Amino acid sequence: AIELENIHKSFGAVDVIKDVSLNIPEGELTVFVGPSGCGKSTLLRLISGLDQPTSGRILIDGQDVTRRSAADRGLAMVFQSYALYPHMSVRQNMAFGLENTRMPRAEIASRIEEAARLLEIDPLLDRRPGQLSGGQRQRVAIGRAIVREPTAFLLDEPLSNLDAELRGTMRAELAALHGRLGKTMIYVTHDQIEAMTLADRIVVLRGGVVEQVDTPLNLFNAPANRFVAGFIGAPK
Ligand code: ATP
Ligand code: MG
Repeated sequence: AIELENIHKSFGAVDVIKDVSLNIPEGELTVFVGPSGCGKSTLLRLISGLDQPTSGRILIDGQDVTRRSAADRGLAMVFQSYALYPHMSVRQNMAFGLENTRMPRAEIASRIEEAARLLEIDPLLDRRPGQLSGGQRQRVAIGRAIVREPTAFLLDEPLSNLDAELRGTMRAELAALHGRLGKTMIYVTHDQIEAMTLADRIVVLRGGVVEQVDTPLNLFNAPANRFVAGFIGAPK
């Protein structure tokens, strides 16, 4: 599990995350949802180790990782922008970072082949990102996360650059991938439909505060307040 204990984050005088405590269970797909600027990406960056909280603790499987670097946390992040290297092939993009570890070359190669098959991008391994469609680029970004065999996947609006139809397809693929890998996923979106269809559990954020945490069905049936009801589209 990933646990957040009383997490605060300020940028200068501005409090962006205010006393957030959360328990993110092993193997579940947890969605952080909330309006633009509510702190979703900031919270994900704090979990990933790309940024440090002002106060509070982050635990992974009971270990305090608050002061550990991103590389030491064993998590993999997938960004909205894909963050692929344009001058490298798909294969090199997926291998990037693993080559500097002690992992044998053959192991890296076989992980890439396996992830590429899973995501059906195996014919594209020698292309560059510029020669791929948006959906294919997104698959490469997910593949790059998979080959790291992380304990959890952190996805920040990974589908928001895709058109509506492809977004629907990729959403279903991600749900299937979560089922197959059985790994913890935290998925950030401002899209209520995405949240309701993907999540095992939804965390509703507003202004850096957790408004409610529950399953999609329970949120819909018993929203804690008007904000949650309005945001989820439930009657209240
Ligand atoms: P969106 O849906 O638009 O991506 P978000 O929920 O991901 O929004 P964040 O990116 O986490 O929101 O930002 C939360 C708040 O923190 C915003 O008001 C933003 O301007 C502010 N913020 C984020 N990063 C920084 C930074 N490095 N310095 C100062 N303020 C920041
Ligand atoms: Mg964001």
